[in-house]
Amino acid sequence: MDNKNLKDLAQNPDFIPGIYNYCDRWCEKCPFTSKCLNYAMQKERFSESTGDMEKDNEVFWQELVETLDDTIRLLKDLMKERGIDIDDIAVDEEYEKKEEDIRNFTKAHPLTKMADDYIRMAEVWIKRMQPGFVNAGIYLENTEEPLADRDRTSGIRDTLDIIRWYQYQISVKIQRGLQGKQRAEEFNEDTFMYDANGSVKVALLGIDRSLAAWKRMTVFYPNEEDPVIDIMILLGRLRGKTEKEFPEARKFVRPGFDDR
Ligand code: SF4
Repeated sequence: MDNKNLKDLAQNPDFIPGIYNYCDRWCEKCPFTSKCLNYAMQKERFSESTGDMEKDNEVFWQELVETLDDTIRLLKDLMKERGIDIDDIAVDEEYEKKEEDIRNFTKAHPLTKMADDYIRMAEVWIKRMQPGFVNAGIYLENTEEPLADRDRTSGIRDTLDIIRWYQYQISVKIQRGLQGKQRAEEFNEDTFMYDANGSVKVALLGIDRSLAAWKRMTVFYPNEEDPVIDIMILLGRLRGKTEKEFPEARKFVRPGFDDR
């Protein structure tokens, strides 16, 4: 898609501005696809497909390079307007130091460690169950199993999809929130805190949905109740501690999802 098409597409008044900034990116399950510019762009790209993946990829990167050229031109004009020298590449050491401190702080934060523990615990359980999932056709498209078993199979597959979708995203969003909170304090900028709360709200919703999915797993696998409950306890603690660290996150209004 060239820049002109993109501009035309973006003019659509039906789109909710910024809806894609604080969603979970699960477009397949999203109730707002018709209101989302990001989704429309993906669809447009898909419709332009030649059916040849290599060719499509070449066009994709070529278009990106063209966008970059336009962006650099725009950036140069803006910098000139503001009297900034684009060739001045002096490193702002104070800024760099602050950013490094923020990264280290986030990495060492108990919420990051807990979210990463959750990733590992979920991974261990899924890996242990994998042979059973494969046997039950959960990873297979055309299973030959009897119809009576299909509800159970698709139920497990859906539940696993939920767990998988949020398993890593929770940690990523929490870390973004922690970095935003630190930046808001370091640079005294409210927009960082706004973004932090939005990111953490997405993480909290991911935790809620994952908890519900794990509960469903115990129905499908009653013998697995003990290990699954251990995972749920960890996730529940992560939920509580995240809410405490970000008391405003639940109140964050996500464009589209929470304001209509
Ligand atoms: S708002 Fe919905 S359609 Fe748009 S990127 Fe997010 S999940 Fe996908």
